[in-house]
Amino acid sequence: MELGVGKDIFAVCGKCGDTWHVIVALEGAKVTKVQCKFCSGYHRFKRSPNDPSPMPAPPKKAAAPRAAGAKKPGAKKVARRDPRENEPLIEPDMALPVRDYAMSETYRSGERIEHSKFGQGVVESFPSPGKMNVFFEDGRRTLAFARPAVASL
Ligand SMILES: [Zn+2]
Repeated sequence: MELGVGKDIFAVCGKCGDTWHVIVALEGAKVTKVQCKFCSGYHRFKRSPNDPSPMPAPPKKAAAPRAAGAKKPGAKKVARRDPRENEPLIEPDMALPVRDYAMSETYRSGERIEHSKFGQGVVESFPSPGKMNVFFEDGRRTLAFARPAVASL
């Protein structure tokens, strides 16, 4: 502990008992005179046998309350919507331009398409030849793609 005039020190006050004092005078490394922080009385330094710590610690409240949102006992698992219902299964490839949807065109997964009816979507997967799953904001749809413009019936 660093001793010095003006520093806090735990000592015995004749009136107040064990309490915090301020060092008033030193003799070498030895504290000779202190001022009681409670009664402001000056007296000789007498080390307290109950000196709790080398430095005064501000009174600490009990452990900080748990962060909000921490586990709450009894909190029921909130029914979560399947995240796949709300977001594309794959990351849209932002490097690719948004292309208008046309049945005759070929698309890649991750490509963004603009559908005349459903709006913008992201190509997710190809469940079967000529079909692709596309994620739209209002849901997932299976669209035909890579079909020749002239249907071969
Ligand atoms: Zn005192």
